Amino acid sequence: MAFNNLRQVAVFGSTGSIGRATLDVLNGLKDRLQLHAISAHLQLDLLSQQQRHHDPCLAIATDPATAARWGWMDGPQRERRRVGEEAMLEVAGHPEVDIVVAGIVGMAGLMSCLVAAESGKRLALANKEALVVAGPLLTRVVEARGGELLPIDSEHSAIFQALHAGRKEQVRRLILTASGGSLRDWPIERLAEATADDALRHPNWQMGKKITVDSATMMNKALEVIEARWLFGIPPENISVVIHPQSIIHSMVEFVDGSVVAQLSPPDMRLPIQLALTYPDRFSCPAAAFDWSTSLDLDWRPLDPQRYPALELGYEVARRGGTTGVVLNAANEVAVEQFLNGKIAFPRIVEACRTALDHHHYDPNPSLEELIRLDRWSRQEVLDWTQRQCSSAH
Ligand code: MG
Repeated sequence: MAFNNLRQVAVFGSTGSIGRATLDVLNGLKDRLQLHAISAHLQLDLLSQQQRHHDPCLAIATDPATAARWGWMDGPQRERRRVGEEAMLEVAGHPEVDIVVAGIVGMAGLMSCLVAAESGKRLALANKEALVVAGPLLTRVVEARGGELLPIDSEHSAIFQALHAGRKEQVRRLILTASGGSLRDWPIERLAEATADDALRHPNWQMGKKITVDSATMMNKALEVIEARWLFGIPPENISVVIHPQSIIHSMVEFVDGSVVAQLSPPDMRLPIQLALTYPDRFSCPAAAFDWSTSLDLDWRPLDPQRYPALELGYEVARRGGTTGVVLNAANEVAVEQFLNGKIAFPRIVEACRTALDHHHYDPNPSLEELIRLDRWSRQEVLDWTQRQCSSAH
């Protein structure tokens, strides 16, 4: 436990790409921030290495079965180890923890975000699903408890920074940039042939598998439209998406006078992560900076809605709110998994999501219990749908 004035940071999902980048950033900020806890679900070899190397107060293996198999609570480190999601929630609400970095992908990260928000902490949010699934709830709790919500998602970090150039009522639109993903130059009629390997070859970012596929379908941007809607309180009709292949302009804000303010940097997640940790301060960062002695071309182009039908689902969910976010998010998680396992073709990911959205019982004002129930329902719905697709194909 801490006996000094360093701000204490908990990193949930420390073995994922956001978590690893966060530990790298923390390494350079040792005189300001201290790593309090780390957690991982499956990669316990790496978690153990991180514990040795970064020396947090606590390292949590959230999956009891994996922990038992690995022998997580055996050996000399066990004093500073815990098992289970409850241990993570305890850290999320612990009074000594100042900042929670939510790096867990999907629904699994939602509860720890809510607990951190309940206890008025700074929540550095990489888990966009928390806002997609429970945006109104999460933002309400943050406000009521006097906490802070800082985006790690590069687009939202860019908007967060650009918004400082004016007042909210002066904003005309938010412009999210999208790389277009790994299949952006494929002919549309060939997308059904795309394999998992094709979809996983992202041009600009090294990320987890799920988000790389989401980037190819543009579901990632659909989720980001929803995220921006709740994070910044901007109606979806005032949020636009453009294709920007270089991933240098991370997003933009257009003000009522036509002035557009953008945030630019080489693509490196360590920059938005560090800002979310240190804001309103800025410090030198391990992320690469521009080399102003070399030339660089930047361009953008409108995106073709036919190529990216996922985006329309994002706008629909951002408009309707309620239960639509949890259904879309869960359906997409399962559909992506099915695609990665070779069970469904690439274009079917979005079809599966459409079907789940159309078949669910909409509630504009769901409770947390209802969200959890619908999360399970939507997953099962997509599994059943896939089953029907497979059997009708044979
Ligand atoms: Mg992003």
